[in-house]
Amino acid sequence: MSIESLARPDILAMKPYSSARKEAPASGILLNANEAPAPLLDEVGLAVGLNRYPDPQPAELIRRLAVLYGVPHDHLLATRGSDEGIDLLTRVFCRAGRDAILHCPPTFGMYRIAAQAQGAGIVSVAREPGRGFALDETAVLAALAEHPSIRIVFLTSPNNPTGDLVSVEFLRRLLDAARGQALVVLDEAYIEFSSAESAAALVASHENLVVLRTLSKAWASAGLRCGLVIANPTVIALLQRVIAPYPLPGPVIALALRVVEPDIMERQRQLLATLRDNKHALLRALEGREFILERLPGEANFVLIRVERATELLGFCAAKGIVLRGFAGDPALRDWLRITVGSGDEISALSAALDAWEALP
Ligand code: PMP
Repeated sequence: MSIESLARPDILAMKPYSSARKEAPASGILLNANEAPAPLLDEVGLAVGLNRYPDPQPAELIRRLAVLYGVPHDHLLATRGSDEGIDLLTRVFCRAGRDAILHCPPTFGMYRIAAQAQGAGIVSVAREPGRGFALDETAVLAALAEHPSIRIVFLTSPNNPTGDLVSVEFLRRLLDAARGQALVVLDEAYIEFSSAESAAALVASHENLVVLRTLSKAWASAGLRCGLVIANPTVIALLQRVIAPYPLPGPVIALALRVVEPDIMERQRQLLATLRDNKHALLRALEGREFILERLPGEANFVLIRVERATELLGFCAAKGIVLRGFAGDPALRDWLRITVGSGDEISALSAALDAWEALP
């Protein structure tokens, strides 16, 4: 069964939108897109002509990111953050009211949101709280077999908020089990922080694997809104049927190109090394405190802890200007807090706040 036959028939039958910028090169006298002939602002600190629509998939950015991720350029789709990639995948592969996604909560919330926005079903295979929220691999395989309507399995490596990795062995088993039924989408938003290698290289040999990457986390550029879908060209072409005509604004493209220039890449390596050291410092700051009942260091740029009186502690820190992530609305995570690895000074401030919390009568 071809991967295309898994997609929505109405998407397959649809004539894709063809933008002016796609149809003709952006040079000469451009009278084809109802644009102004010259910009009002010559310079906004960026070499961008704001009067022109941007390249829908900027070739130079795609070329550099293909090198960065070690994949052919036709395996890449640049999106408005990985959020948009998640949304596109769900819209293309899940028929409203008929198909479903599988996810493994606690995990990133956008898989559920995207499914709900699309009217797709949601099969949840809960992680096991007694085992550090480990993925229940057997249950994932069983759910896939039990629900033929599953079209996408969302896995996150490292997972947010538990920080654990998906093993390559399990990923391969799942890809085999899902072949002809579903895509496996591996969200690697935090992979640069971990000891693991990206699964992007497996995309060439597994047509139902999709890998998500982003400039938001390890590239310190969440404000850019630039994510990447890595998939075989057939899947990329399907996603291009529904993506907005110009998903990345011109200034974003210019800044993203700047972010992945060699001098900034060197700075990024230093940032990752600093954050690794800071994570050790954060873990030390959390050590030996009686109110911390469990600590999941994970492999990402955050740590998850189970504490006594989580809501009060959250409020106590907030009153000192330190904002942690609580999960009051999620029964599985009610007693847990997620702490992002910050700067040395931020960790010292947190440590002092935790000392003060402990010293309370
Ligand atoms: N995936 C995971 C696991 C995340 O935690 C996040 C952001 N919190 C995203 C994707 C979204 O990233 P982006 O900024 O690229 O949309």
